Amino acid sequence: MRRFITLSFAWTLALTVLPSAQQGAPKAAADALGVASIKTLQFTGSGRNFSVGQNFAPNEAWPPVTVKSFTAAINYDTVSMRQDLVREMGTVMPRGGGAPFTGEQRQNLLVSGNYAWNLAAAPGGAQQAAPAPANQVDRMLFVWSTPQGFVKAAMANNATTKKAKGGTEVSFTVGGKYKMTGIIDAQNHVERVQTWIDQPIVGDMLVETVYSGYKDFGGVQFPSHIVQSQDGFPSLDLTVSSVTVNQPVDITAPDNVRNAPPPPPAPVTANKLADGVFYLTGGTHHSLAIEMKDHIVLVDTPLTEARALAVIAKAKESIPGKPIRYVVTSHHHWDHLGGIRAAMDEGATIVTHQSNEAFLKRVAKTPHTINPDRLSASKKPVKIQTVGAKGTLTDGTRTIELHLLTNYEHTGDMLVVYLPKEKILGEPDAFTALPTPTSTLVVTAVPYAAALYDNIQRLHLDIQTIAPFHGARTTDVAELARAAGKSAARTN
Ligand SMILES: [Zn+2]
Repeated sequence: MRRFITLSFAWTLALTVLPSAQQGAPKAAADALGVASIKTLQFTGSGRNFSVGQNFAPNEAWPPVTVKSFTAAINYDTVSMRQDLVREMGTVMPRGGGAPFTGEQRQNLLVSGNYAWNLAAAPGGAQQAAPAPANQVDRMLFVWSTPQGFVKAAMANNATTKKAKGGTEVSFTVGGKYKMTGIIDAQNHVERVQTWIDQPIVGDMLVETVYSGYKDFGGVQFPSHIVQSQDGFPSLDLTVSSVTVNQPVDITAPDNVRNAPPPPPAPVTANKLADGVFYLTGGTHHSLAIEMKDHIVLVDTPLTEARALAVIAKAKESIPGKPIRYVVTSHHHWDHLGGIRAAMDEGATIVTHQSNEAFLKRVAKTPHTINPDRLSASKKPVKIQTVGAKGTLTDGTRTIELHLLTNYEHTGDMLVVYLPKEKILGEPDAFTALPTPTSTLVVTAVPYAAALYDNIQRLHLDIQTIAPFHGARTTDVAELARAAGKSAARTN
């Protein structure tokens, strides 16, 4: 408990008299932005946010989602924020990934001190607070990245200043380890704020927020346009329509959030699909472990280093006495790639589509100073083997085929894994078998299932078992065909 209090304190501002050495740009900005008298700030807008880590190809922008309305209510004194979003999707997803949905989607995202949580619909129309500890840092940094928040944080954290292009650069650290740097321009407006958060794949990830079109919103200067980027591509683009200050914003973490133990790691379960072929399930993302004569081939090390290490351990337990020599990464989306640095540290050769080579080389070298991982300590050189339309891994007895899906709008580099002898297909994202074979896919997911079905026909794959990397069970081509709206599964 004491640890939490200490940490929590690190996020709050001990607002003291400003040392004279730091007067200047932050002080002038504080005057221009009315910082001293602003305790709470609420702004509303609309625009787009983006599915970070879900681009069609590693060098493309994140796929957009329409944000019909966005409201952030911030209390700077209690260091808390509530964001209410109404997002909208038509019947077709934009090119790239992201969780499929259609129609309107409401999100209520909160943070207060050390706690982050989301409100989710509960039975009876009530709302239930679901702890979201992984989002505490980015939400808190959002609070301190707002123009007024940035100036408050600068004044409370012994900011240093220096002349820079466009104005004065102001730098400091919040929460004990999160560096923030911003530019205050000649009008004493906060023009941009940069900060860095830990991301398992790209490491210390730049989050940059650019503010423009400052105007007077009922007595307070605030930007009318906000563009936030993550890892170089826009993640949020808002046109602000209204701003109010000093309205009551009372946000406290509910007891079930405060008392929530750290989420336990999802167990990894090995399900034997054939001799030496294990479907490693548990949690939200699954993997495959395949036994070869003198080594193991692993397919996907998803989510995080911790998940990857658990998957690696389970693969070695299921196939004892052999090293993992190859880790196939199905595609570059961050949820499936989260543990790739653990795979690199394991010494495995990473097998990927050729369009990912440059990105994976960057990933192997990105600094991870906020949350150092195993690879940042071992600095093992990365070994990458690329695949084009088709790749094969074989030991002379067992053959693993990797096929690139074509006409697949979810991603341009999807390699599905096919074992011809065992008639098994491993695939992420294209088709997730629903709890019962009679349930129907969300309308935006149907084209992906159809693309998988068409690819299976094009490649003449003879399949008995489809092992999806999401969901709760294996499936087959007949169910895929029904879900995809194809009349019947043709036999090959
Ligand atoms: Zn994906």
